[in-house]
Order: sequence, then C-alpha cells, then structure tokens
Amino acid sequence: MTLRNLITGGAGFLGSHLVDRLMQAGEEVICLDNFYTGRKDNIRHWLGHPDFELIRHDVTEPIRLEVDRIWHLACPASPVHYQSNPIKTAKTSFLGTYNMLGLARRVGARLLLASTSEVYGDPEVHPQPESYRGCVNTIGIRSCYDEGKRIAETLCFDYQRMHGTEIRVMRIFNTYGPRMLPDDGRVVSNFIVQALQGQSLTLYGDGSQTRSFCYVDDLIEGMIRLMNGEHPGPINIGNPGEFTIRQLAERVRDRIQPGLELTTQPLPQDDPLQRQPVIDLARELLGWEPTVSLDEGLEPTIAYFRERVREGR
Ligand code: NAD
Ligand code: UDP
Repeated sequence: MTLRNLITGGAGFLGSHLVDRLMQAGEEVICLDNFYTGRKDNIRHWLGHPDFELIRHDVTEPIRLEVDRIWHLACPASPVHYQSNPIKTAKTSFLGTYNMLGLARRVGARLLLASTSEVYGDPEVHPQPESYRGCVNTIGIRSCYDEGKRIAETLCFDYQRMHGTEIRVMRIFNTYGPRMLPDDGRVVSNFIVQALQGQSLTLYGDGSQTRSFCYVDDLIEGMIRLMNGEHPGPINIGNPGEFTIRQLAERVRDRIQPGLELTTQPLPQDDPLQRQPVIDLARELLGWEPTVSLDEGLEPTIAYFRERVREGR
C-alpha cells in the first residue's frame, strides 16, 4: 500500500528535502504550508505530479485530511523570522502541534514532531544527551520558539498517554544545506552570502560560542529512520562535530574569498554558548550517524548560494 504523507512546512528548507525523498520513494505527499518562510520554488518540480498535492494553509487552523503519516515541521526556524512575530511563533508551535495531533488521533496517523536542540536552551551540560532537561529562559526573546517546542513535545507525549497516538519526537540540531533562504539570518547562510557578495562576515559576540552543523541529507535520513522505527523519542539528530562560530566564519571565508574581514556585532540575548549533540541513542536505536563532514557539506551549499546570488534571488 502506498503511504499517504502530510508534510507541514513542506515548502521550507528541511520540508522540501523531505518531499523529494518521499516522492522519489514513490509515496504520496501532501505538502501543507503558509509560505511564511517557505518558497514554491523549493517544490515547484513536483507540481503537477499525480502523487503530489500542495495546500496553502496555516497550521494554527484545524484541517481534515486522510493521511497515514504526519511530518510536522511547520514553524519558522531562524531567530530572525521566529522573533519577528513571537506571539505567532508560540501559536504556531502550540496550536499547530495541537491541531496536527488532533488530526493524527482522528485518522490514526503516526506523527513526527520536528523539535529542536533549543529545548536544551543555554545548556549547563555539554554535550547534550536526551536525558538533559535544559536551561531555558521563559521570558527572553528566544522563549517563543524554545518554550513553544517544549510544549509541543509535551502535547505529543500527552496524546500518546491519553489517546495512544503514535508519536516520534526528533530533536534537530543546527542543520544547513541548499534551499536555506539567503536572507534567512541563520549563521551558515549569512556567512556564505556575505562572502559571496565580498562583504565582511558578521560574528555575533567574539565568535567563541559553538554549534554543531549537520548537512541536510544526513538529517533527512535520520528523520525517515525515526519515523519508520519503533521508538517515540525524543531522539537527538545532529552532527557531533563542534565548531566555534569564528572557525565556521574562517572556513567559509577561506573557501570563497580569503581576504575578507571578520567583524563583530553584539551577541543577541540568551544566545547559547555551546551546543553539541550526544547521538548514542540514534546510533543504537536507528543505526544512524552523520556521514557528511562540514567541509563536504559546505561545497554544495556554497554552490547553491552562488547560483542564487548570481540570479539576484
Ligand atoms: P523553514 O523556515 O525553512 O521552514 C519552515 C516552514 O514552515 C516554512 O515553509 C514556513 O512557510 C512554514 N510555516 C511556518 N509557520 C507556518 C504555519 N503557521 N502554518 C503553515 N506553515 C508554516 O525552517 P526549517 O529549517 O526547514 O525547519 C523546519 C522545522 O525543523 C521547524 O519546525 C524547525 O523548528 C525545525 N528545526 C530546524 C532546525 C534547522 O537547523 N534547520 C533545527 C532545529 C529544528
Ligand atoms: N551568528 C553569527 N553571525 C551571524 C548569524 C549568527 O555570529 O551572522 C551566531 C549566532 O549568534 C549564534 C550562532 O551563530 O551564536 C548560530 O546562529 P543561528 O541563528 O544560525 O542558530 P541558533 O542560534 O538558533 O543555533
């Protein structure tokens, strides 16, 4: 039987790569998006395919569909976008997840939630295993997103306990690759676009904070294994290779235009100092680990942005 998949946020960065993988596997896909940060160009190549449907819809409103699997990714992921209307972000996380769980319960679908390493906040435990409960400021500028994802996880587990809904909770660590928006505001796209335009690269703070960057293809493989597996999670999916933001800037610059300057700007409030996933659970339960190094992943990502910058889009 062909699986019917609903992908919320399917026109976004991660969602559109997932659309590609499921369509290539011969499954049916309904892509649902309100196009806040998503683009039709990301999924244009599937328009008109008999197994593909596109619905413009906001997940804060309920919807009735017949599906087997719900991949719930709808939510802006970049601080610039999720902070531009923080109340909407909190609504998207809470009401969006509530509506999708309601749908999953009604039709007996399995739901995967795209949660985040941000549930660990500015972590006092390093690296972060799933058992760490996090250090999140409830009233800061990142809280709409961090607390939104925390309540979304809570809703999933309460639906599982109360209604037996099948859930899969994935804690995604910083992921990069083609189809991020050039003006997305996240660090990898910012640095690449700045370097391609011959501008200085903007380090927030002194650049000593760390992140661990996962290439999108690895991430999507982990997502599919989690959905197909038996474990509800939460499970960390990310690349344990940890870099300071300064190291990232230097790598990007040296690949594109080695003479460029690195300049500093103030560190945003509550910006986590360090982040690195423990992926023992993913290795054990899903047989998953990342295969693409930062240097290998930067290449196709830079090539993608080179094209976008040349086209002026
Ligand atoms: P993205 O901004 O590219 O994609 C989000 C998509 O959701 C967009 O297409 C947007 O238009 C859509 N959307 C937003 N609000 C919506 C709403 N109310 N109704 C319908 N659609 C809506 O971001 P992404 O990087 O692809 O992230 C996808 C998911 O993964 C998000 O839930 C994000 O929190 C999570 N995540 C991503 C990362 C990462 O590094 N990329 C890290 C942790 C978690
Ligand atoms: N950052 C930076 N310069 C930029 C954009 C981001 O130094 O132009 C920093 C940011 O302060 C954070 C890190 O890079 O410490 C990762 O930022 P991003 O927004 O990509 O992800 P998140 O903070 O949500 O992990």
